[in-house]
Amino acid sequence: MTEKIKGIAASSGIAIAKTFILKNPDLSFERKTVSDKEAEKKKLDRALEVSKSELTKIKETAERELGKDKAEVFAAHLMFLSDPEFVGAIQNKIENEELSAEAALDDVSKFFIQTFESMKDNQYMQERAADVRDVSKRLLAHLLGVSFTSPASITEETVIIAEDLTPSDTAQLNRKYVKGFATDIGGRTSHSAIMSRSMEIPAVVGTKTVMGKAKEGELAIVDGLNGEVILDPTPEQIEEYQKKQAAFKEQQEEWKKLVHKPTRTKDEAHVILGANIGNPGDADGAVNHGAEAIGLYRTEFLYMGRDNLPTEDEQFEAYKAVLEKMDGKPVVIRTLDIGGDKKLSYLPLPEEMNPFLGFRAIRLCLERQDIFRTQLRALLRASVYGKLQIMFPMIATVGELREAKKILFEEKDKLTQAGTKVSDDIEVGMMMEIPAAAVLADRFAKEADFFSIGTNDLIQYTMAADRMNEHVSYLYQPCNPSVLRLISHVIDAAHQEGRWAGMCGEMAGDTIAIPLLLALGLDEFSMSATSILPARSQMLKLSQEELKQHKENFLKLDTAEEVVEYVKTNMI
Ligand code: PEP
Ligand code: MG
Repeated sequence: MTEKIKGIAASSGIAIAKTFILKNPDLSFERKTVSDKEAEKKKLDRALEVSKSELTKIKETAERELGKDKAEVFAAHLMFLSDPEFVGAIQNKIENEELSAEAALDDVSKFFIQTFESMKDNQYMQERAADVRDVSKRLLAHLLGVSFTSPASITEETVIIAEDLTPSDTAQLNRKYVKGFATDIGGRTSHSAIMSRSMEIPAVVGTKTVMGKAKEGELAIVDGLNGEVILDPTPEQIEEYQKKQAAFKEQQEEWKKLVHKPTRTKDEAHVILGANIGNPGDADGAVNHGAEAIGLYRTEFLYMGRDNLPTEDEQFEAYKAVLEKMDGKPVVIRTLDIGGDKKLSYLPLPEEMNPFLGFRAIRLCLERQDIFRTQLRALLRASVYGKLQIMFPMIATVGELREAKKILFEEKDKLTQAGTKVSDDIEVGMMMEIPAAAVLADRFAKEADFFSIGTNDLIQYTMAADRMNEHVSYLYQPCNPSVLRLISHVIDAAHQEGRWAGMCGEMAGDTIAIPLLLALGLDEFSMSATSILPARSQMLKLSQEELKQHKENFLKLDTAEEVVEYVKTNMI
């Protein structure tokens, strides 16, 4: 039955395809012993057979659709299911310890994973650990009779329906097949939403109910422009949305004409429009969408979707690739911002009541200096390939900034003493995303070369509203005068010391916020690549001098609603 569900528009565009429901299987079980060992072994055999036939199918399709390379992972999984050491060890546990098949599998897979992972410097063995983890999950799901799905196995055009997509789920999506997605939870600034924009996949998040309502394989429309999902649409709706899809494509063609144009306002003021990226590969999209800089490279994605820390050389290659691709244009690379909703399976962090207020980003890096120094060395080595600007995330105190800079300069000295070339022209800046730092921006401006305002966090901390929680998403108010006053103070403080101030939070690409930010004198706007051309086209029609005359007025208003109204009537 046709149903329209409202959500939050997370990534623009319209997708029409069959649904693929991504369930997070409940793989909990009670550890127990059994009396009928033979029955348990038979259960294991059946689960092995089902898993093998499933994987064979996935492997064949993947070979056909994605190429041999991408299909190799499934061949490795299949090998484990036939490996006498692996399967034999499970059977022995059932036989000798009278364990249930689930418990036996759990013990054996943990043993294999630990053994492989202990060979720290061996990339091959680390990958095998990942294989055992994945294949054991599949096998366990079949032992428990729970259906198991993985986004990597999608090989036909679909829209994904999920409760939520973790950043690593999102990283596995193949754009060729995944036409859109809709989730129950999340807001515009949750990382799955941000990733969907950088991958240019239309997305609607925070629907609260789509998971319970969607049926596997039925047709669905994801309208990432208006934040709506239509399940089982009528033929008229399909036609209507096909038209909208075509109109959106046409609009995109118009924007494309601005790709090689600089960003100028009507009165010839120039600002820089940069792109936020998560992977070196995204730099192509940034250039194709007319980015004049990379305003934020979130390096944490380099650490995700794998089973060990990236080596210095791997990181060096990634950073060098982006710097070269940008060909001398500025590239802000942010040091590791893990924690909050971004987790690493191989780096267990303490369970926290409030992860967004916890052990994340620079806090973790100053503690785990081994990880931090490796990244800094990779960055410094890459610096000679372009215009690098290093940025520290989640700086709350001047002491943290000093400490981070001290470590950076120590590594720089070590490298230069060892004869490694490092650029002399690296700017070192910080994210402005903690209210304490924003209030003290005048002091920070003496020691940071630039600020990039991270409104996704700055707003969540200023309004005390979790950016992942859709119940309080109404408090994500970029136009709240308190937020605007903080931003205004940060920009003025930067300019006072001759520094530049940019913004890499999602607010930078927001149509209503753009006139306000131009009025406040923001120098650089960094956003999802797909927002760059619409923003450039909007800025062409605005005069910064005229907008500036409204600054005193909108900063004096009481509510976000009043500001929005003010912008609509006076500034657009
Ligand atoms: C921000 O907080 O605005 C930001 C850009 O960082 P992230 O979204 O990665 O936390
Ligand atoms: Mg942030």
